Amino acid sequence: MPRLLDRLANRLTLRTQWTLLAVAVCSVTVGLAAATSAWIAKREALELTRDRLDTLAGALADQLDNGMFERFREVQNLARLSLVRGRWSEEPLAVREVLEQLQNSLPNYAWIGFARLDGTVHAATQGMLEGASVAERPWFGEGLKGMTVQDVHPAKLLAEKLGPSDDGEPFRFVDVAAPVLSERGTVMGVLGAHLSWTWARDLSRQLLRPVDGKAAIELWVLASDGSVLLGPESDSPPFPPDLLARAADGGAAGLVDESGPEPVMTALAGTRGLAPYPGLGWTVVARQPMSTALASADRLFWSILTVGSLALLLGALFVWRTAARVTSPLRRIVETADRIGRDPSVRSLERIGGSLDAVVLSSTLRALLRRLGSAEAQATSAARERSVAEAEASREAKRLSDQLSAAQDLAARDPLTGLLNRRGFALYAEDAWKGYQRHRRPLAVLVIDIDHFKAINDRYGHATGDCVLSGLGAVVARTLRETDRVARFGGEEFVALLRETEQEGALTLAERLRHAVEDSVRAGSGTDADDVVTVSLGVAVADPDDRDLGDVIERADRALYAAKTGGRNRVAFEAGSAVEEEAAA
Ligand code: GH3
Ligand code: MG
Ligand code: MG
Repeated sequence: MPRLLDRLANRLTLRTQWTLLAVAVCSVTVGLAAATSAWIAKREALELTRDRLDTLAGALADQLDNGMFERFREVQNLARLSLVRGRWSEEPLAVREVLEQLQNSLPNYAWIGFARLDGTVHAATQGMLEGASVAERPWFGEGLKGMTVQDVHPAKLLAEKLGPSDDGEPFRFVDVAAPVLSERGTVMGVLGAHLSWTWARDLSRQLLRPVDGKAAIELWVLASDGSVLLGPESDSPPFPPDLLARAADGGAAGLVDESGPEPVMTALAGTRGLAPYPGLGWTVVARQPMSTALASADRLFWSILTVGSLALLLGALFVWRTAARVTSPLRRIVETADRIGRDPSVRSLERIGGSLDAVVLSSTLRALLRRLGSAEAQATSAARERSVAEAEASREAKRLSDQLSAAQDLAARDPLTGLLNRRGFALYAEDAWKGYQRHRRPLAVLVIDIDHFKAINDRYGHATGDCVLSGLGAVVARTLRETDRVARFGGEEFVALLRETEQEGALTLAERLRHAVEDSVRAGSGTDADDVVTVSLGVAVADPDDRDLGDVIERADRALYAAKTGGRNRVAFEAGSAVEEEAAA
């Protein structure tokens, strides 16, 4: 991982790295801020919701208790009120008046009636059910015995008379009943009141009115057996009995109901009754889906994230632009350094400011360049001195080598004629002999000797003899071909080596040489016939039986001897042994 980062860093400019770093730091900060505030907001929202649900459930429970207490007392009071005691046995019209007065005090009283001991309704509000029997109704049976309340139940006898309720649901009632006693203290009948259960619904609506509709808070009322009295219709009780018992003991707040499609925050509060109203064991449930409870926390999280991301973008832009300014001196230094590396004419770096680092870096580079410049100058002058010394040395070497080759040349040449001497000849001879041996290239040798040279010396002097020798050398050198070599072997005797030359060619060349000498070399003034200088020539060609060139020269020398004895100023040839054998065969 660190190596990967290093490799990545090597590809990114300082500016990009700074910007990326800023983005990373800002992202972490924004993320942390959003997450932390969301966590805190969520915790507080949960606490708030729990408190609110708890309060709402408790409030509805209290209001139900209070309401029931009041109805209980109202019915009890009316049944016992001595002022109206005489009225119960009067005409139904008179009794109805009293009952309707009570009904008017609370619109939720659906029906109030007075039934005589046999269960026949004597009088009732709006005259409903008057004359009908309620002997079978539990409120009547219990009411004969004493004060009673009957839990929520559907309307039986009154359902048709009351018609549909304002919310379209069937009427349900809570019954409150009290025995009516005569002046003698005996039971005359039962005063019964049907409290419409829409009362509980109205209470719940009143409580929920200040609460935001989007919060989706619901208030339910459960009967002591857990069945739903107010709330969604369901076949089975939504909560287990032990939970209801806990609620009855002191409420249960902060529950999360996970049974539905989404978790729901739930608070339960039991009703307790309010003496003398004994209570019916109802439980109030306040509910709010977790999603709506946490909506504000979610909103906060997203707001912080949005604002934070905007800030992040602005921050990155700012860093990107600032980094350009911060890194621009560095970039200039890098560009100049690059130019210095490529272009030899660029030798200095301007002073670059912008930051302390840039100032230090540029002055360091300037110092480095100065040192580099002086080192370069030193190196250049040293190189110049060296090249001068080298040139001198090479001139000296050339002079020496010229002298040497001149000396070598001198050693290989005869000073009088300028022709090769024996030593110089040997080098060529060896080479030519190797060529013959290897490729059988034809090779011929002439041995040339001046006729009666002793006499010339004697007659004209040694100096003239020398002139004759050098003149002869010039004629020989002129007559022979470029590839041929001639050497002065000693005295007035010369040897010529003719490459690529057969017997016939050698004889022709020998004749031509003989004529050339006879025609052009003179001793003395050159006017006398005796001044004519002639030569005799011995010719031989290389033969396969020859061991070395010496054998050929020897044969040519014998041919020369033959030419001398044959009369001089002539050419003679001696064949090799292999040729002779061939001829003989
Ligand atoms: P032949 O026709 O039989 O060759 O007779 P020749 O006189 O030429 O032969 P011989 O060998 O008897 O004489 C050679 C002479 O050449 C003897 C010597 O004095 C002379 N000589 C040798 N070297 C030189 C030289 O360098 N300069 C001069 N001027 N004479 C030389
Ligand atoms: Mg001679
Ligand atoms: Mg001789």
